[in-house]
Amino acid sequence: MITPLMPVYARIPVAFERGEGMYLYDTNGKKYLDFYSGIGVMCLGHSHPTLVKALQDQAAKLWHTANTYEIPHGARLAERLCAASFADTVFFTNSGAESIECAIKMVRKYHYDKGNKGKYRLVTMSNAFHGRTLAGIAAAGQEKLTKGFEPLPDGFDVVPFGDIEAVKAAISDETGGIMVEPVQGEGGIRPLSNEQMQALRDICDENGLLLVLDEIQCGMGRTGKLFAHEWSGVKPDIVTAAKGIGGGFPLGACLATEEAASGMVVGTHGSTYGGNPLGMAVGNAVLDEMLKPEFLPRVAEMGDLLQARLGALQQRHGDFIKEVRGVGLMAGIRMPDVPTRGAVVDMIERGMCPAVAGDMVMRMLPPLIINEDHIDEAMELLDSAMNDWRDKGVPA
Ligand SMILES: *Cc1c(COP(=O)(O)O)cnc(C)c1O
Repeated sequence: MITPLMPVYARIPVAFERGEGMYLYDTNGKKYLDFYSGIGVMCLGHSHPTLVKALQDQAAKLWHTANTYEIPHGARLAERLCAASFADTVFFTNSGAESIECAIKMVRKYHYDKGNKGKYRLVTMSNAFHGRTLAGIAAAGQEKLTKGFEPLPDGFDVVPFGDIEAVKAAISDETGGIMVEPVQGEGGIRPLSNEQMQALRDICDENGLLLVLDEIQCGMGRTGKLFAHEWSGVKPDIVTAAKGIGGGFPLGACLATEEAASGMVVGTHGSTYGGNPLGMAVGNAVLDEMLKPEFLPRVAEMGDLLQARLGALQQRHGDFIKEVRGVGLMAGIRMPDVPTRGAVVDMIERGMCPAVAGDMVMRMLPPLIINEDHIDEAMELLDSAMNDWRDKGVPA
C-alpha cells in the first residue's frame, strides 16, 4: 500500500529534531556532525542567531504581499547580490528548478528579441543535474531522471562532461547558449577546470551564445568565493543560485547581465511567492554574514584544509578511496569498490552525516562555519570507520 507521504525518496531511518551550528540532534537526543547541510543549504549551520532573528522579526511584521507591490527587502537583496557579483539584475524564485526555468526562458527570449527565434537550444553536459522540472530533466538528459516522463521539452543537446570538442561539434544555427555546473554536485563533485571554463566562454563569444552557469550547489560561498566561476576569472551571462542563498529558507535566484536579461520586461515572467518578504529578510541576513570580509577567505582556508586532510585519509586508505575531488567545502571521495549508500548509513550511525553522489562518491558539503576541530572530528570518524570496514567489511 502506498504511504501517505509519496514514496519517492529512499529515506535513511533517522529523524532530526533540532540543530545547532555544525551539529544535528535526533529524536532520541543523539548528536551528529553535519557534513551535508541538507544538500548544502544550511551554509551558516543550524539555528544561526542572525537568521533566526531575521525570520522571527519579519514573521511578526509581514509574511507575504505578492509582487503586485514594492518589496524593499527584495530590492535591497538584489542590489547587494549585483554589487557582489557579475550581475546587473536578479529574479527571485523559491527553488533551484525555478531558477533554471527562468534562465532557460531568458536565453530563448534574448535571441527571440534579437530576431533569432530559431536559436532556442542549449548545450549541456552529461551527469548534470538541473532540477526536476520537465525542462530541468531534459537539460540533464540522464535516463534515471527522464525515463517514463517523455515526451520531454525539446531544445537540449547533451555532450560528455568537460568535452570541449564535443561542445563545439554540438553547436548549430539553433544553439542559443551553453549551460553547465562549474562544479557538478549530484553528478559526483566534478569541477570543470579554469581552462575548460575559459574555453566555454570563448565558444560563446565566437558564436553569439549566452553562458549559463548553474551554481545552485557550488555557489553562495561553497567553494570559498561567492560564486565558483570566480576562481576561473570567466564572466558568465546568467547564473542560477538557490540552496545556500536562503540558509534554509526556500529561496532561489536567477542572476544576469543587463544584456542577457534585455528581453525580461513587464509581463514576461513572474512568481507568486518568489521574492516574498520572509525570504528576502532571511536572504539579506545570509549576506550580512557571508559578505563580512573575513567570511569567504575563511571558507577557502577551511576548504583547503578539508581537501588536504581527505588527501591524507586517502594515503592511509587507498584501498577504499581512489580519488579526492572538489573545490573548497564541496568535497567528494570516490570509492568505487564500496557500496556508497551502505558507507553513508554506517557513517551516520557513527555520528557523522555525509551523503551519496553519483559516480560512487561520498559527498561532503559541511556548513561553511566549520572549523579545524570539526574537520579533525570528521577525519577521526572516517578513519576508524575505514579500519573497521577493512576488518569486517563495509555494510551494504
Ligand atoms: C539542487 C540543484 C538543482 C535543483 O534545485 P531544487 O531547489 O531542488 O529545485 C539544480 N541544479 C543543481 C546544480 C542543484 O544542485
